[in-house]
Amino acid sequence: MLKFTERGIYCPQADSYIDPWEPVERAIVTHGHSDHARWGMGRYLCHSHTAPILRLRLGSDLAIQELEYGNAVSVNGVRISLHPAGHIIGSAQVRLEYRGEVCVVSGDYKLAHDGVSVPFEAVRCHRFVTESTFGLPIYRFPDPAVVFSEINSWWMRNAADGVNTVLLAYALGKSQTILRHLDPGIGPVLLHGAVANVNGALESVGYRFSGERITPETDRKTVKGAVIVAPPSALGSSWLKRLSPYRIALCSGWMQLRGARRRRGVDRGFVLSDHSDWEQLNQAIAATGAETVHVTHGYETPFARWLREQNGLNAREVHLQGAEVTEGDL
Ligand SMILES: [Zn+2]
Ligand SMILES: [Zn+2]
Repeated sequence: MLKFTERGIYCPQADSYIDPWEPVERAIVTHGHSDHARWGMGRYLCHSHTAPILRLRLGSDLAIQELEYGNAVSVNGVRISLHPAGHIIGSAQVRLEYRGEVCVVSGDYKLAHDGVSVPFEAVRCHRFVTESTFGLPIYRFPDPAVVFSEINSWWMRNAADGVNTVLLAYALGKSQTILRHLDPGIGPVLLHGAVANVNGALESVGYRFSGERITPETDRKTVKGAVIVAPPSALGSSWLKRLSPYRIALCSGWMQLRGARRRRGVDRGFVLSDHSDWEQLNQAIAATGAETVHVTHGYETPFARWLREQNGLNAREVHLQGAEVTEGDL
């Protein structure tokens, strides 16, 4: 029921591609990150909270069919439904059922709760397609609640020292998670335009986030002791220099690696990820009950070998050409 083609993961019975990277007629999109949601598809099927992100990023005139979690549509006899992936707002696993066989394509997912997206749901299936961004045993992420309290304490200390706090986090996903957990009692919360734009799109489907967009008119006095949430691309920009003095932190799963903070030239690194760590990947795969697992998107080869040798699964690595680690994976 699933074919791995050079355009993406293909279901021939439904004539649909999942997260294709080249224009096709029917695309099922797991979530709004740019390595999964691309321009040029004839029709898009996605969760209703991913739809405003696609319109913001790809154009307002897209043909989008929206689906809620757990609801199904039938395409040529294939029952297609979406289930929470816990990765970012609107992120979905795609469940395909045809003549008694069930396949689930996870997209990106995490089991840790972020307080914003609907928590991951384990879906029983015969065949599971998993990502493996952090598919090595060295990746063990700390409890996000601990990380959020460290972020607030650091902000408080910086404010007491009379400097601003800059948190670099991807505009879709991690920024909303951080905004949900910042303590507004510490000081003003300010947003880079890219973050404010995503928040605006999500507000159209009922979300509310704290923070004010920084504009050319933003008074520098209001910036005193503030926290500024900006995408990693702001690092080294003149936009950022105008907000000095500040201390700057990068929020990313990769911050767990030794030397990562220094290499990126930031003052602090907070280990915060939208993805599953080693433990979560193994737990999620076991919960599906799948006998066949296709491993994409990250450490395909070692992780597939681990699943074969240690778990006795029929696990295969799939190198998806367009699935390079990008934005949301930072
Ligand atoms: Zn991804
Ligand atoms: Zn993603």
